[in-house]
Amino acid sequence: MIKVQDLVKVYGDKRRRFEALKGLNFELPDTGLVLLSGKSGSGKTTLLNILGGLDYQTSGDLYVNKKKIEKKDLDSYRNYYSSFVFQDLNLIEELTVLENLEVSFDLIRRKYDKNLIIETLKKVNLPDTEISMDDFLSRHPKELSGGQKQRVSIARALLKNPSVLILDEPTSGLDFKNMMRI
Ligand code: ADP
Ligand code: MG
Repeated sequence: MIKVQDLVKVYGDKRRRFEALKGLNFELPDTGLVLLSGKSGSGKTTLLNILGGLDYQTSGDLYVNKKKIEKKDLDSYRNYYSSFVFQDLNLIEELTVLENLEVSFDLIRRKYDKNLIIETLKKVNLPDTEISMDDFLSRHPKELSGGQKQRVSIARALLKNPSVLILDEPTSGLDFKNMMRI
């Protein structure tokens, strides 16, 4: 369960103050998929960053499973409960697909499991061309299409087995077929 109460986010300083979230209140169900839409600049990314533990609100409260998330909890909240797929994906260019996915295991100190990596990639329809799984795992991000990168980044987020998975404009790089799959 996620609940926000009087959530306010202010950017800038006293001279140039911008209120991106002006006192939001809502409660989301325990399970399910929630879609957030709004025009550019309306505060979607600001809200998602707070829900994902990447940023902290100026005032107001975030509750997850009835527990109030304090600033000091953010590291563990981000590592163990939430997982974020960024709009710009944040894959590490110097690492292969496999190495990019291995990072998830380090983060949560989970035992490394290559089969789980392979199963998770299959869930996001990868590899989607003629190439073998081993070949795909050894590629670098620059050797992938935008849509493939996006799905590797979703697989990386899924590998953390998070309670909350947050995607910011997750389908912007996908073709229609894969957009519908997500
Ligand atoms: P959306 O994702 O809905 O397009 P954002 O949450 O990114 O909107 O931004 C909401 C508003 O906050 C915008 O007007 C944007 O210019 C402003 N904003 C976002 N991030 C910052 C920042 N780091 N500093 C100052 N203003 C920001
Ligand atoms: Mg945004």
